Amino acid sequence: MSSQVHEFQAEARQLLDLVVHSIYSNKDSFLRELISNASDALDKLRLETLRDKELVADTTDLHVRLTPAAEPRTLTVSDNGIGMSRDEVIELIGTVAKSGTAQLRQALSEAGDASSSEELIGQFGIGFYSVFMVADRVSMVTRKAGESVGTRWESTGDGTYTIDDVADAPQGTSITLSLKPVDVENAVHDYADPQVLRGLVKRYSDFIAWPIRMTETVSVPAEEEGGEPTTEEADATLNSQKALWAKNKDEVSEEEYTEFYRHISHNWDSPLEVISLHAEGTFEYQALLFLPTQAPFDMFMRERSSSLHLYVRRVFIMDDCPELMPEYLRFVQGVVDANDLSLNVSREILQQDRQIRAIRRRLVKKVIGTVQELQDRKPEDYATFWSAFGKVFKEGLVNDPDNFQAVLKASVFETTHSATEPTSLADYVARCPADQKVIYYMTGESRQQIEHSPHLEGFRAKGIEVLLLSDPVDELWTSQMPEFDDRQFVSVAKGEAALDDEDTDEDTERDAEFAGLLEWLTGVLDQDVSATRLSKRLTDSAACLVGDTFSMSPQLEKLYRASGQ
Ligand code: ADP
Ligand code: MG
Repeated sequence: MSSQVHEFQAEARQLLDLVVHSIYSNKDSFLRELISNASDALDKLRLETLRDKELVADTTDLHVRLTPAAEPRTLTVSDNGIGMSRDEVIELIGTVAKSGTAQLRQALSEAGDASSSEELIGQFGIGFYSVFMVADRVSMVTRKAGESVGTRWESTGDGTYTIDDVADAPQGTSITLSLKPVDVENAVHDYADPQVLRGLVKRYSDFIAWPIRMTETVSVPAEEEGGEPTTEEADATLNSQKALWAKNKDEVSEEEYTEFYRHISHNWDSPLEVISLHAEGTFEYQALLFLPTQAPFDMFMRERSSSLHLYVRRVFIMDDCPELMPEYLRFVQGVVDANDLSLNVSREILQQDRQIRAIRRRLVKKVIGTVQELQDRKPEDYATFWSAFGKVFKEGLVNDPDNFQAVLKASVFETTHSATEPTSLADYVARCPADQKVIYYMTGESRQQIEHSPHLEGFRAKGIEVLLLSDPVDELWTSQMPEFDDRQFVSVAKGEAALDDEDTDEDTERDAEFAGLLEWLTGVLDQDVSATRLSKRLTDSAACLVGDTFSMSPQLEKLYRASGQ
């Protein structure tokens, strides 16, 4: 195939436009994105050759290389990794990740100013496109491992790009940026300067496991006295390649953790909390986990599962290992490095593996414990966490019976006590009058709807606090008769919500007075209700419907009906 001009997909063009007009203040980060992609490509090639013995590829010296040049100023970032086929180039570079397009389009049209665009980038990540913050022309040559013909892709970041075949392309991918003029005021540094590059690699990409090399000119002292010093070209490795997860927490700076988090998660926000774990004993492994600050845009999509990276003795195995984290903790990002697994471990094996299961149990406890600690010690961070991930976290109340109590304790719930601050159960219990031995709650579709319910009237009148539960999972876990701190959960919409246990003489009189009416009502409503009772829970309304203590709530009935049961 010869040279072809293609148009970027509409969403990609919008994103590019955003990038070129440089809403993102940190232009340096383009280098991190390119190195990160190169590193992924090297990981993929190494894995592919392990799996596919027929694949013809050279894996003897996998590395990333930076080649700066003056006049004209260019920077080339190359790797000898997996590379891309022509179709992949069009698919991967010409479009924005498919699942996100609708959301992206909407978000873009809503993003008015620079700061909201920046936030947007935090959620979507612009990855490769970030090159157009610093380059006015980009040329990429790539050849997929195992294929003979390569592809050249070129664009100036406007609406189109060209694609050509390249007969003699080396293995891997090489990306050359024609650099924009230095503009320090707008944070565009001299990316053709080896010292600048060295500094950026140290700062953003030091932990990358593959060597990042650059040829540097070093001065060599003269051999004989009085002679002129000469210069010599020497290859230098710019990164220390140290695995952050193998280090102790106090040896790693916050910035290093942040960069690593961004590398593995492809997110642009900063982690809210870092969890480092070094397990010894039967199963030895190290884990480095992050709670993000922002929810990614696809948090609630079906196909999204947890994506912890799995390493075996420092060797990258896969970047999404759902076996390591249950779905309700799918927001957790990080790395697990297991000592005793085989490098050839397959997904099928992982699903059965005792070691993986043991690791997962421990990680889950650790994550819930960390959330609990945030709740106890860092209320602001906890509030950030809860508004981003609370709904997902609460899925654990239904899906993880083993950790039910821990998840319950680390959660917060809307309550009649405050219109704005959700409450933990511990706080609810602390506020309870001494003689209240249960936790009152009511479920419904929204706080507003619940608050209008006549069921609440008597409780409100007596100043009794009620939890207002409106997430879909709330129906499910509350229907399982849970307890917290030896207290039963009691729905105010069911049974004899004992506002006052003792029947007084007055009540007995009242019962007698209305006996005839009740009998008549029971007859009239025979088909629709199982009994009619005088109620003490109402203050303003004349009547309300209540479910049996052991029956399904109307919302739960709806849920079951919706799922076809
Ligand atoms: P992300 O890395 O988050 O997927 P990018 O925009 O950085 O998004 O890259 C898009 C895709 O292009 C990558 O997922 C990868 O498949 C492909 N890609 C980018 N750079 C390279 C490279 N150096 N080698 C091979 N594939 C690459
Ligand atoms: Mg990337």
